[in-house]
Amino acid sequence: MEKLVISIPEPVSYIINKLNRAGYEAYAVGGCVRDSILGRTPQDWDVTTSALPAQVKEIFHKTIDTGIKHGTVTVLLFEGGFEVTTYRIDGIYEDSRHPSEVTFTSNLREDLRRRDFTINAMAYHPDEGLIDPFNGMDDLKEKVIRAVGVPDERFEEDALRIMRALRFSAQLGFAIDPETLLSVKKFAQSLRLISRERIRDELLKLISSPYPETFRLAYETGITAVILPQFDVLMNTPQNNPHHIYNVGDHTLSVMENIPADKKLRLAALLHDMGKPETRSTDENGVDHFLDHHIKGAEFAENWMREMRFDNNMIKDVSTLILYHDFLFSKDESGVRHAINKVGSLFPDLLLLLRADTLAKSADYTERRMKKIDHIEDLYLKIKERGDCTDIKHLAVTGADLIAAGVKPGPEMGRILEEMLEEVLCDPAANTKEYLLGRL
Ligand code: ATP
Ligand code: MG
Repeated sequence: MEKLVISIPEPVSYIINKLNRAGYEAYAVGGCVRDSILGRTPQDWDVTTSALPAQVKEIFHKTIDTGIKHGTVTVLLFEGGFEVTTYRIDGIYEDSRHPSEVTFTSNLREDLRRRDFTINAMAYHPDEGLIDPFNGMDDLKEKVIRAVGVPDERFEEDALRIMRALRFSAQLGFAIDPETLLSVKKFAQSLRLISRERIRDELLKLISSPYPETFRLAYETGITAVILPQFDVLMNTPQNNPHHIYNVGDHTLSVMENIPADKKLRLAALLHDMGKPETRSTDENGVDHFLDHHIKGAEFAENWMREMRFDNNMIKDVSTLILYHDFLFSKDESGVRHAINKVGSLFPDLLLLLRADTLAKSADYTERRMKKIDHIEDLYLKIKERGDCTDIKHLAVTGADLIAAGVKPGPEMGRILEEMLEEVLCDPAANTKEYLLGRL
């Protein structure tokens, strides 16, 4: 068999070398080995070693105690920081969450055995080649996510691995081995014990992957029932409306597939119709309507994202996109300027959401509506090119001008500026100091 060769970055082989010369074992390990074999660019390079943290710190000049309790030291080189972790066996897990203790070991195989999936449990050394005691290479070739050892035990130890299984499946386009998948289902409930931040991070990686439709597995395995139960409601909300061809859940998955793989956009897609179940009403012809579902949806997104500890900017952007995803633009320039005023720099993202949403509906509706969106985009580009004023900051009149013209500072002033802006949004030619002050 031909020997597998991975090209290791200079600083990583320097670290391995230096540890070896001091008498310790050292290997590149985990995600970087997996990604190198797959021809993907590794996010970061991790080194695993038989040296204890104190010994690692003796060997390298500059280090940071990143996770010293768990054996991780960051070695600082000119090129950046690299995590070096001592071989370890994770001790008893408390509550499917954290190992209550870790034990260091001098055996690489023990260290590989504590890792989550076979494809993540390979190590590589420039001279020795690949160390693969759990046949990760076979699973890479067969495109399978398989737990190391007995799946039930591994998910019971750490329930976050449930999310990680789906996340890697979505990122790599791999299937989850049936036995591992069965175990995911069995332990989905124990995700309740995992911190929201950790779930959030894995969820974001899952949905902003090349295969966001893998999210369906989160529903089928009972994960959404724990982390986003409203998605289960969407899956059971039909939309009997000639524009629609799916239930709200399937439609949502389709919108995620249709939108670029960006965190903000994929989140907006995932959450955009969460307000539908609560706003559904069926008319006398049996047709479903969802009046003002965007308002309910934006509200839902805001609350859920806050619970999941998303940062404030993300919460604001995503809920704004959702609030306007059903915004009926009047198809003239004035209408588009008003919309730009509302969503600001998110307007191009809103167009992407509108397109993705439209593509996930019935074909004849899609064609008509896509033409409308094209038209709105043309208007948007024209407005941007001309530099029409679309917000109060670019109004030709400022608060200071109003004061100089004799208006008393206070809420009245704000109201006047709003009225001036309204006029300018309708007609950009009105944005001159002479004209606007003349209107006072
Ligand atoms: P990414 O490319 O997203 O960084 P990764 O595989 O490197 O993927 P990390 O979260 O950076 O994932 O973890 C590095 C390695 O540590 C994994 O490849 C795996 O071997 C191990 N690992 C990480 N989290 C767990 C876990 N919860 N249980 C077991 N092993 C884990
Ligand atoms: Mg990593």
